[in-house]
Amino acid sequence: MYHTDDLPFHPTELPDVYTQFRKSVESKCTIRSCFKLPTSLGPLPRCDLDEIGGWGCVPLVDDLGLHHEKVNMGMCFRGGESAALSRVNEYFWRKDLLRVYKETRNGMLGPDYSTKFSPWLASGCISPRLVYEEVKRYEKERQANDSTYWVLFELIWRDYFRFLSVKYVNSLFQIGGPRKVESIKWSQDRVLFESWREGRTGYPLIDANMKELYTTGFMSNRGRQIVCSFLVRDMGIDWRMGAEWFETCLLDYDPCSNYGNWTYGAGVGNDPREDRYFSIPKQAQNYDPDGEYVAYWLPELQALPKDKRHFPGKSYIKQIVPLKFGSSNQRHGRSNYNRRQGKDYAGGSKNFY
Ligand code: FAD
Repeated sequence: MYHTDDLPFHPTELPDVYTQFRKSVESKCTIRSCFKLPTSLGPLPRCDLDEIGGWGCVPLVDDLGLHHEKVNMGMCFRGGESAALSRVNEYFWRKDLLRVYKETRNGMLGPDYSTKFSPWLASGCISPRLVYEEVKRYEKERQANDSTYWVLFELIWRDYFRFLSVKYVNSLFQIGGPRKVESIKWSQDRVLFESWREGRTGYPLIDANMKELYTTGFMSNRGRQIVCSFLVRDMGIDWRMGAEWFETCLLDYDPCSNYGNWTYGAGVGNDPREDRYFSIPKQAQNYDPDGEYVAYWLPELQALPKDKRHFPGKSYIKQIVPLKFGSSNQRHGRSNYNRRQGKDYAGGSKNFY
């Protein structure tokens, strides 16, 4: 969204704290306009199509050894600019969801809790500047509120991770991350990792999110933070294995956003204040209180009472590891996490969610 030449600092001098970056660009930079559509195009390049074997053809899903999955509670992602513009129109204007984005953005089920622009942004089908211009138009024609601002706030995170990758280059992909943290002992236990990857950990909130990722190529931001925290904090697995699996599956895969967020989640990012532990009982209670999300992806839980779906006990597969904080056998929600927060586990997180 922000042009690198317009930053008030050289990317190698980028602030290590997101808020400092955001305040600085918001007060000192303007966002360039989108390029206008050209009124005419030049001639096609001279080339004999036969020489290059024709236009070729786009392979079908089946040709790639994959098959269609029927998912009726997700977003139907179609590629291309027209589909991207149509989603902007639907989310901002037709359904008027921009008005409430800040309240809904942490949801996990269905197409409309967040914009779902990311796959189109990642593949260059729409630009963040177009989204910016549409937000500004919406603010003028309908209303400006915390939600309209928050979409821009998130797009600034996207920019921040891009500029960070200019500053920290290859260290983003290395185990110690930008801070070169050497004190954490990471495990590469295949059994634990496979149970996470395949959604067989015994924790419905983790398993449902991992099944969604594999089936659809998408996972909510809330889900990504929770499964990342579980892999690195509760299992102690090398965060790069998780990042690689995301890279394999995500429709919106982007090296800067993916590895940037994973280094933050693993506590090796450039800003140690972002070092966070996500408690499954607490997250389940706040973001899926009736277990609707987990029961959608794990139909075997549908018959259970709502308050048992997150901690179904013996009627679900055995938990593969205990949680670092709080009891893993509780039925729902309340736990002893407050007593134990902030102590004794790899990564030494101070922030508890
Ligand atoms: P919205 O909530 O509608 O946000 C609007 C846009 O802001 C998004 O489309 C995205 O471009 C940007 N944005 C929002 N949150 C973030 C964030 N934390 N970091 C960077 N940009 C953000 N996003 C990717 O685009 N590609 C990735 O490979 C990727 N990997 C991630 C890995 C982890 C471990 C985590 C925690 C987050 C990752 N994200 C990634 C960020 C975020 O989860 C997705 O951008 C978001 O869920 C996409 O859904 P949306 O378009 O509905 O987002």
